[in-house]
Amino acid sequence: MTAFRFATLALALALPALPALAQHGNGWTVASTPAAGAARAIGYYANGCIRGAVALPLEGPGWRVLRPQRNRNWGHPDMVAALRELARRVRAATGKVLLVADIAQPRGGPATGHASHQVGLDADVRFQLAPDGPLDPVLRDEGTELTMVADGKEIDRTRWNGDQLAMLRIAAELPAVDRIFVNPVIKREACRAAGGDRRWLAKVVPWYGHDGHMHVRIRCPADSPDCRPQDPLPADDGCGAALAWWFTSEPFRQHASRGPAKRPEPPAACLALWRR
Ligand SMILES: [Zn+2]
Repeated sequence: MTAFRFATLALALALPALPALAQHGNGWTVASTPAAGAARAIGYYANGCIRGAVALPLEGPGWRVLRPQRNRNWGHPDMVAALRELARRVRAATGKVLLVADIAQPRGGPATGHASHQVGLDADVRFQLAPDGPLDPVLRDEGTELTMVADGKEIDRTRWNGDQLAMLRIAAELPAVDRIFVNPVIKREACRAAGGDRRWLAKVVPWYGHDGHMHVRIRCPADSPDCRPQDPLPADDGCGAALAWWFTSEPFRQHASRGPAKRPEPPAACLALWRR
């Protein structure tokens, strides 16, 4: 497989979630309001739900929410606080505002197009920034994601510049952030462009797709004992062999050989939040 296109894989990655959604997803999709109670992220990023979610307002200092009609701007208060802080710092650094796409549904759970985003601790933030003013309604409601990767292989320097590197670094340096998923081409670019202080790169994790947005994942909050953390990342900058692996044929082969995802039973505590 020579013409390995990471961007194409983004779509393939989203597909296994669809059959499972038909079994388990409707209650999560139908619920238009959060489950009452103190905030609790319950379960795992890719199998869980959230109680007491709060909404990121549709606009604020340094951010705009995309496609608000999807009602996916809900998250744990720690997630919303992290996004507010990210937006504040990115605006200070670049003079521009963040475009925030999906966080979670009001009660979390499986959502079309995502394997995770289920516990209110994941958020997609576009690499494209917007001027600090009223958001173009076309961009808000229908805007397609601009890829930062040309031909699936190289960083697109007509779109990627110091602003994108700054937002990635600012996000990685937020203490609440556990890791950030980006396309391997973007990780490679961050490795190239980072200066002497490379600690933040450890949190930037290569993954399929993710060429037009960064997927920001925060740690399990202190108030959520039933939140299951992800295994810790290696402490090094991840710019060596682990990154080189992504530029072999192996990731494509592994992805192609993977069968349809079997969704595990959701945590029992989530069943009470599921709206029938
Ligand atoms: Zn995501």
